[in-house]
Amino acid sequence: MITDKKVNLLDFDLPALQDWFSEQDEKPFRATQVMKWIYQFGVDDFEAMSNLSKALREKLERLAEIRAPEIVSEQRASDGVVKWLLQVDGGNCVETVYIPEDDRGTLCVSSQVGCALDCSFCSTAQQGFNRNLSAAEIIGQLWRANQALQCLPREQRVISNVVMMGMGEPLLNFDNVVTAMNLMIEDNAYGLSKRRVTLSTSGIVPALDRLKAVSDVSLAVSLHAADDALRDQLVPINRKYPLKELLAACLRYIEGESKRKITFEYVMLAGINDSPAQARALVKLLKGIPAKVNLIPFNPFPGSDYKVSKPEVINRFRDILIKSGLITITRKTRGEDIDAACGQLAGKVVDRSKRKLKHLKEAPITRVI
Ligand code: SAH
Repeated sequence: MITDKKVNLLDFDLPALQDWFSEQDEKPFRATQVMKWIYQFGVDDFEAMSNLSKALREKLERLAEIRAPEIVSEQRASDGVVKWLLQVDGGNCVETVYIPEDDRGTLCVSSQVGCALDCSFCSTAQQGFNRNLSAAEIIGQLWRANQALQCLPREQRVISNVVMMGMGEPLLNFDNVVTAMNLMIEDNAYGLSKRRVTLSTSGIVPALDRLKAVSDVSLAVSLHAADDALRDQLVPINRKYPLKELLAACLRYIEGESKRKITFEYVMLAGINDSPAQARALVKLLKGIPAKVNLIPFNPFPGSDYKVSKPEVINRFRDILIKSGLITITRKTRGEDIDAACGQLAGKVVDRSKRKLKHLKEAPITRVI
């Protein structure tokens, strides 16, 4: 088929870019040269790639493009957090958040337009699901954020960590997420350490096994409950992949690597999952699993019924975990004044008709409150 549509080079990880150059009768090492221009120098104009011949630059101009999502709006919170609304193809928008800390800068990246999983405490779920992001739209969030951060003082603009914790369930957009994560850790692209790239999942068990086969980025699992009855309500995908199967998959993911731990995320919802008995149940559940626990104070959003647990309740819960030997931290809420905190990312989802996955339609989803 002859098409005049240009290929977006942001869609290719290094092996794919090398293949593409070979298909164009060019040497594969051109791929590393171009990749460095794109990711290390932030260049999207072939003309600026001065170590390529003029003929090659013109050829690339004809066949290819380097196109990241455009910024629609930028908001800055009082604590330095920056949130961008990015336009992706089809009139949709996703959100990307930059979180500066003393010793690192973390970018929270979206993987889908909306989300199909319908977790009852998450704002993205209310948006419904539209589609998967392309690899270019995922890695393009880093490219665009790096570009936008250039106006800040040097120490405030370094992206040292990436968390796939924005909109969407990354393991339901497997191939594109893996391609984008390959570029995050590729030396010729962003060159981040594998330990500084974290994929967060609600627990798509078969995809966890697939992930282990192709990548070994850090893993965070959205647990939120220590028993199936409650988790079925909070994270409906639990009806398909219950706790026992999920935790077995987590163990398989880090099997054979003695120093690695899985991070378990636990949103603190007042009166729902924050009692001492539930803390003890969590300790029991995670026994034997190399684990870290992140307690996330619930971030409210318009239309949500849940309330965040009081600080003393969160501390009591945390202390029970710590006493049992579990490394536990309470995640600081950042970017609250611009709705950039966990679970508050909404973006703009134009067609919400694909709201839920088929298997979730079968069982009615009732709210806990
Ligand atoms: N779909 C993936 C990644 C997205 S969310 C996942 O489920 O892991 C990143 C984290 O924020 C998840 O642990 C999610 O459960 C949590 N979260 C969602 N809504 C929240 C809210 N309103 N307050 C606090 N945390 C929330």
